[in-house]
Amino acid sequence: MNADNILKNLKNWMQTSDIIDPSFYNDYLNKISLKIADNKVYLLFKNELPKLYLSSEEKNIKDMIKKFANADVSVIFMLETEFNSNIKIIKEKETKKKQIKNKDYSFTNFIKGKSNSAAYDASKTVVKNPGQWNPLFIYGNSGLGKTHLLNAIAKEFGENDNNLKIKCYPSTEFRKEIIRTLQNKDKKIFDEIEKLKDSFLEYDVLLIDDIQFLAKNEKTNEIFFNVFNKFIEEEKQIVLTSDKFPENLSGFDKRLISRFNSGLSVKVDEPDEETLYNIVSFKAENSNLRLSEALKKHIAAEYKGDVRKIEGIINRIDFWNIQKNNLDNNNEIDIEDLLIILEDYTMKINGEITPLKIKEVVAEHYGIDVKALEGQTRISKIAHARHVAMFLIHDMLNKTTTEVGLFFSNRDHTTVISANKKIQDKMKNKAFKAEMNKIKQKIKKS
Ligand code: ADP
Ligand code: MG
Repeated sequence: MNADNILKNLKNWMQTSDIIDPSFYNDYLNKISLKIADNKVYLLFKNELPKLYLSSEEKNIKDMIKKFANADVSVIFMLETEFNSNIKIIKEKETKKKQIKNKDYSFTNFIKGKSNSAAYDASKTVVKNPGQWNPLFIYGNSGLGKTHLLNAIAKEFGENDNNLKIKCYPSTEFRKEIIRTLQNKDKKIFDEIEKLKDSFLEYDVLLIDDIQFLAKNEKTNEIFFNVFNKFIEEEKQIVLTSDKFPENLSGFDKRLISRFNSGLSVKVDEPDEETLYNIVSFKAENSNLRLSEALKKHIAAEYKGDVRKIEGIINRIDFWNIQKNNLDNNNEIDIEDLLIILEDYTMKINGEITPLKIKEVVAEHYGIDVKALEGQTRISKIAHARHVAMFLIHDMLNKTTTEVGLFFSNRDHTTVISANKKIQDKMKNKAFKAEMNKIKQKIKKS
């Protein structure tokens, strides 16, 4: 879609069309302009008169614009002044989004709560008094803020005017560097490895993310062990993160594990509801989203476990909000909106929805066994659950009725068609529709 081309075509059309008075065109309409923002076309007027004049032909003109744009776009008539003030909002929003995309892993953007306060405080201390706790070992499950904290440490070191040289990277990069050196066949490997080790020693602070990926690779392990020891000896700060407690890291040299333990190990836990609530509020504010109190509480209660999941939900809401009404972002978003937002959200947050997943969730919902669901029993409760599962596999995964039948002991597609029809009929009942929504949500979250 090119704004200049659309406008050129539109003007040509206006000049030759018999629905527009040529003298009016010359006086007013040749001054119109056209802008594209956020996938919408804005036809802009200098003042009210031409806008009013064209309003009687609005549909006609919008259709022409769609034709010239070669797309079924929304077309909006607007005064230039109005557009300019609205575009500011869109631009602000776009900038905000960019800021979020280039994630700012700083301490200021990290919400401290019971679940992560030890890791947060220890990270802060490392910057204040490097070497005091050496190494600092941050561990915990995925999505709980380890990478964020590690980068916040690097950032804050960088901001302090202390001339310290910082190296912060994922362990996979560290490994790549070693492997590259080992593959360098033209030179003497031994010298090269020594050079590599020396290159690390130029740094004052070494921050390595996801140390578990260095396990089970003897050469990398050995070089890392060397570098690590040198750092500790010279009282230079090391911070490591891992998904496991040092003792549980298999594939590492025993001596290394005991060294990991010699400093301070801190765990990040799953956030409690209050911390999650604060994270939701913070992330929503960052995206310029106004969420109702009830919705914030709902998200904090329902999406426990992983901050990354929460970010996924917020992004989803943000996307929906932008699509829906980017010019008016003052509307408060509530739980009902969330249900609509998630309605056609067929991707599970952490991966793919599979027919088996659907069967498992439905079976659990009705308190029966997946085997029973797949089997032949005609007990009404089980048959009903089977119909629900068939319907959802058809509906959520876009499977044909023949395909759906295959997931249920190779039943005929006509059985699936009849199941779909039964469920569709039942969905006319509000309570049952709500129950189906609930099951869908469970599938998406599980
Ligand atoms: P991990 O490295 O533990 O797998 P990350 O540090 O990558 O997790 O965190 C996942 C996402 O969640 C990141 O975008 C991060 O900014 C965010 N996040 C995690 N914990 C918090 C928190 N307490 N406050 C704000 N954002 C957080
Ligand atoms: Mg990480």
